[in-house]
Amino acid sequence: MKKIIATILTSFLIFGCTNKKAENYFESMNTFMKVQCYGENAEEANKVAQKYIGELEATISATKPESNLYKANHANGNQVEITQQAADLINFTLDICKKTDGALNCCLYPVTSLWGFTKKQYKVPSDEEIARLMPLTDFNNVKLNGTKIQLLPGMMLDLGAVGKGFAGDEAAKLMKEYGIKSALLDLGGNIQTIGKKPDGSDWTIGIKSPFGKSPIGILKINNQAVITSAGYERFFQDENGKKYIHIFDGRTGRPVENEVLSATAICESGTYGDALSTSLFVMGVEKSIDFWKKYNDFDFIIITKDNKLYITKKAAKKFTLNYDDYKDLEVILVK
Ligand code: ADP
Ligand code: MG
Repeated sequence: MKKIIATILTSFLIFGCTNKKAENYFESMNTFMKVQCYGENAEEANKVAQKYIGELEATISATKPESNLYKANHANGNQVEITQQAADLINFTLDICKKTDGALNCCLYPVTSLWGFTKKQYKVPSDEEIARLMPLTDFNNVKLNGTKIQLLPGMMLDLGAVGKGFAGDEAAKLMKEYGIKSALLDLGGNIQTIGKKPDGSDWTIGIKSPFGKSPIGILKINNQAVITSAGYERFFQDENGKKYIHIFDGRTGRPVENEVLSATAICESGTYGDALSTSLFVMGVEKSIDFWKKYNDFDFIIITKDNKLYITKKAAKKFTLNYDDYKDLEVILVK
């Protein structure tokens, strides 16, 4: 009898504890965020995560004078000391820059700012202006030695392509320290999950459509990040209506102009996923498939201007197309 009561009590305690839910909406890193988590310390974990994400600007912002990046970018060619966290992130990012052959390039700040993307004062620069700045965008010239970093004068790092994914990873790590085993972090459309839903089922994520309002489909995931880069959210148009998007091709110093409308990466690490989403967008379909085959440690969904949706085989098993709204879309299985 005692045993039965003890069992009932224990299960009540476990259930009672894990079922506490906390939900939090806030603005950080220039975007809207929503964190939802379950566990005994749900409230506290959420608060700590929000505060932590706010503080991460000190590691990853290129514009806040108190940040590591700002220090490195304004050192006039001198060596500066940065935090281990910033050094690790820069190291990781440089590695992907190399692996993607420069599709990802964390040194494009001089050109993106020439085009006005950093201050939202857009203009189309001349070929000469772009050419003059291109030598400053060579990421091979970043010297990182432990926590000491040195750039050539005029070079500037930009971690905008990995920042939100990194924030998701780090916030999730912190929440786990608070005993959270189930959480969904939506950082401006970048999704990071911890575990599964409290009822043991997968999280259901809507994949945004570049064509219209309703999601292109839903994806079931657990313990993973789903990160999308797209050209339809931040862009400007010239007097002829030509669009210039905020994702750049480092080889030309110009906004990407290819067949891709949106690129979604699915993998465990948010930082990797964010680096990948931008890389896949820049590489385009063919190179992305080659890259996926070579590394085989992530999944993707790429939607193109000619109404095609490319999806890797593992992701396809977890994806349901919103057929009612996107009947004309051709789904291509990548295997
Ligand atoms: P978002 O931040 O809009 O979700 P991304 O993750 O794709 O989208 O990051 C885009 C940002 O990364 C740009 O705003 C710019 O700061 C920077 N960026 C643009 N092109 C590149 C590139 N080829 N490689 C690395 N960073 C880039
Ligand atoms: Mg990215």
